[in-house]
Amino acid sequence: MAVINQTDRAIKIIAILRQASKNMVRPATVSLIERYGRNPYLILVGCLLSLRTKDSVSLPAALRLFELATTPQDMIVIPLNTIMDLIYPVGFYRKKAALLLAISQELIQNFGGNVPDTREELLSLPGVGHKTANLVLSQGFNIPAICVDTHVHRIANRLGLVQSITPQETEEQLKKILPQKYWSEFNTLLVMWGQNICTPRSPRCSACPIAPLCPKKGATHSR
Ligand code: SF4
Repeated sequence: MAVINQTDRAIKIIAILRQASKNMVRPATVSLIERYGRNPYLILVGCLLSLRTKDSVSLPAALRLFELATTPQDMIVIPLNTIMDLIYPVGFYRKKAALLLAISQELIQNFGGNVPDTREELLSLPGVGHKTANLVLSQGFNIPAICVDTHVHRIANRLGLVQSITPQETEEQLKKILPQKYWSEFNTLLVMWGQNICTPRSPRCSACPIAPLCPKKGATHSR
């Protein structure tokens, strides 16, 4: 592999991924934006439903829920059992239904019914961690933030763009090498790549167009 700096290598990888992922199914968040526009509340709810749940399950659940509620005010008048029924079978659906009610209540009480647009305020909401906060900032508000989910964490390490143990370390290292204009898109591209090519157990390196730029770190069983 030719020696190029990490930023140039990351930008080349992004350019290849843009082309190669053109026909892939978009991540759930992108589908929500295509359908509802940049609505921070819907991005927040969609992200919470997707935690530990595949997009193919969480997106239909979100769409069923949004038939009844697209605002915190709508949400708090839905009975807990109805929310549970609507979002089933997402993982932890009981807990998530209660969380959606608690967050919506908090938004009404403390934020005038709106989703806040700072990381600190988002992190103050029940059940909201860095990953969710960054997704809401980047996709809901168009504020530069890198959402590091399981795909971004795994693939950025395999690519040798970062050397990290935790997603937060990955985020900090990526912020140093990626220009801000790529931060939001990086999540979208790597989620699609992680779902289709660079899968957790057995990545399809032989079919991967970024293989010449990838040291495949930690990918011991590739196809
Ligand atoms: S070459 Fe293999 S390890 Fe590297 S990004 Fe592609 S699929 Fe993942």
